[in-house]
Amino acid sequence: MSPKKKTMKSSHPEQKPPTVSAATSSYYTDSLGFMSIDSNVPGLSNVILEKLNMKSFEDYRSAVDGKSLTTNFGIRTYYDMFQKMEDTFKFCAQCKKLPSLLPDPRSMRRCKRCQNVYYCGSECQRENWPSHKKFCRKLKLAAIDRLVEWLVFTGDIPFPTKPWTKSCSEVKTWEDWFSMQESLEEKVDSIMASRYMGILWANAGKPKPEDDELRESIKRLTTDFFTRPMTIGFAINAFNVDPYTKPITVHVIGASSIETLNSRVTDYDELAKMFPGNQGIEVVMVGPEVVDGPVMRPPLVSYGPRGRVYVSGYKGLYHVFWETLIENQQAARPDLVVGFHPGFHASQGLAEGWLPTLLLLRDYNIPSLFTMYSEHEMKYSLQILAELETQVLSFGPFPFASLKPEQVQTDPNKTPASSNALHLLFRGTIGADSETDMAELEETDSS
Ligand SMILES: [Zn+2]
Ligand SMILES: [Zn+2]
Repeated sequence: MSPKKKTMKSSHPEQKPPTVSAATSSYYTDSLGFMSIDSNVPGLSNVILEKLNMKSFEDYRSAVDGKSLTTNFGIRTYYDMFQKMEDTFKFCAQCKKLPSLLPDPRSMRRCKRCQNVYYCGSECQRENWPSHKKFCRKLKLAAIDRLVEWLVFTGDIPFPTKPWTKSCSEVKTWEDWFSMQESLEEKVDSIMASRYMGILWANAGKPKPEDDELRESIKRLTTDFFTRPMTIGFAINAFNVDPYTKPITVHVIGASSIETLNSRVTDYDELAKMFPGNQGIEVVMVGPEVVDGPVMRPPLVSYGPRGRVYVSGYKGLYHVFWETLIENQQAARPDLVVGFHPGFHASQGLAEGWLPTLLLLRDYNIPSLFTMYSEHEMKYSLQILAELETQVLSFGPFPFASLKPEQVQTDPNKTPASSNALHLLFRGTIGADSETDMAELEETDSS
């Protein structure tokens, strides 16, 4: 990649300069059990950083330090933590006024039905109802889920799973997947009764939902956790990649800091359960924002641990990873590439970040799957791939999308999105023989 100027700020991971602040380069778990990324401050859950839409504690601190350099947030209790999280949602959904602009910041009222959106007063609430009523029910789920999501962080969600008892072709929906989980209700019950579920509702500052609502929330967060390994498994099947005869390598490209900061080496274990008897599946997270953590270990050069999933990481742009490690035989070539919401459609400097990657995937004929949040994202991604003469094999709604609704934070009265809602599969160049395998391509290339 040429060291040209970065054009504009973009929300896209691969488009950002590959810099991660020192503050995110190490982290530890503090006494409350929260992951802390700065030893000088009380622990702040990454779940919260994510909710605050900030990449690091440094971001968070500088945002707040803008007001006062000496402010001590005192996030020392669970109650404080949940309050801070909720604070990011406190603005009038109608006039967008922040609580600090009201004569009494505590006079913000909250919709009683969804416990989610806020109003500066009854007038705004009344005016907003015609548009809010379309989303109130869904936003109620979003409000429950963003609290229950903390249990993913504490490790209570997901519940342990077993090797699949059905073939991949029989598991077409989440319902099919749940039906394989032995004593599902008991597993959900034990999460309901967990210590952290108790702590959560004792400190959430909101009424505890009905048991049935909580149980559904646990299931939605389970799908939110597993949507990624399921996406990779789906792609393995769609491209007929065979994990039974030799170890396979999957590259997850454009991995963001939030994704990798919070990730554990066991996050993709469901893949091993999906393909019992596999020869080893390696998942390499590649992206300029990949940060230090358990997954930040070098990719394997050859064999994966048989029957298991091995997660590794590389911090940098994908084509740089390819040139430095793969070309020098320091990492295996991918059997498959997956991008979770790469969002290259919105990139300002496509040429600098994604273009070399897209061309590389195309020219090496790599089976690839990208996911999207919205139809809009899908439409523009397809357009770019068409311009690059990339062969798109299929696209559409994704059966293993997360069922957790993601609130559009800036405007709650927009349709909530969900991760991996849509997907597209592509491989090689339009018009080329799609059956050409990489070995053949290599030969042609080197001649
Ligand atoms: Zn208002
Ligand atoms: Zn509501």
